[in-house]
Amino acid sequence: MQTANIISMIKDNIEKIGRTLRVIEVCGTHTVSIYKNGFPDLFEGYIDFISGPGCPVCVTHEGYIDRLVELSSEWTIYTFGDLLKVPGSVKSLSQARANGGKIKIMYSPVDAVESIETGEKVIFAAVGFETTAPAFALSLEKVIEKGLKNVKFASELKTIDEPLKKLFQNHIQVDGIILPGHVATVIGVDGFKFVEEFKVASVISGFEGYDILLSLLSITRDILNEDFTVKNEYKRVVKKEGNLLAKSYMEKYFERSSAFFRGLGLIPGGGLKIKDEFGEYSISLSYDHTEQKDTLCRCADVLTGKIKPFECPLFGRACTPISPKGACMVSQEGSCNAYFRYGK
Ligand code: SF4
Repeated sequence: MQTANIISMIKDNIEKIGRTLRVIEVCGTHTVSIYKNGFPDLFEGYIDFISGPGCPVCVTHEGYIDRLVELSSEWTIYTFGDLLKVPGSVKSLSQARANGGKIKIMYSPVDAVESIETGEKVIFAAVGFETTAPAFALSLEKVIEKGLKNVKFASELKTIDEPLKKLFQNHIQVDGIILPGHVATVIGVDGFKFVEEFKVASVISGFEGYDILLSLLSITRDILNEDFTVKNEYKRVVKKEGNLLAKSYMEKYFERSSAFFRGLGLIPGGGLKIKDEFGEYSISLSYDHTEQKDTLCRCADVLTGKIKPFECPLFGRACTPISPKGACMVSQEGSCNAYFRYGK
């Protein structure tokens, strides 16, 4: 189907519905694609795009960063690069590294195991959703197989279902949701069936502009037809049952736990922790889970759809990708960062 035809069909459907639709996405890659393709402008007056809490760096509490910073004098912290610049309450991991903290960037937690030096005391900063959790499970398996001692995983891994339930129950009303394609490759269409109870049009989407247009068309059709079953517009990758091998790794090494999400607070079952039987490889970084109050950063409100990034007083002035004041500007997939780079 021609792109112009899809756009015109989406707009026709919305005119039949008779109001501006509120559509949320909860994946940073979708956020970037939506802004990069200029969809907020293209569908101005038709669709109000909202970014939810699906960027793992954006929802991570500064207390977690603070604890890693403290530990970096004694332990080597292996972290993904986008966590480096996230502000802690005193300093970021990047600043800690500049001050002599032992911090290494990893690209894959599995490959990183190979670079652990003999006798090195290592903490893996395990951050991410179900997309990333299987890689940490595999990493843990390698650590066990190699008989490595003094290697711990500080799990801030998240699940997608519980925060979405809390978002829909307590925070936001939307007409449609673009479901995260990456997470769906692991948990499958079945993993998102819970969305149906909220009577929101939902669709699992790929990441190209064309994918997102097809997903918007699906959402508008479903609203017209009052059809709230989860649709899959990413069939080339996402199966009904997901990735059984990846799920088996997660189930072997992790179990549900409470987890903090910026803007949503502490959510029972929203996280993944290492099972007790592998407890010797786990380090729990305890911190106060309340929202940070002494900050002008409105990231919590951005992540729950209360404001747009440009409504934050710091946006584009004190807070830019070069000098971020909050996690939503740090990550390339954060909504403030995406809006700064591609917004009007
Ligand atoms: S613009 Fe910066 S300070 Fe404002 S909400 Fe976004 S990340 Fe926070």
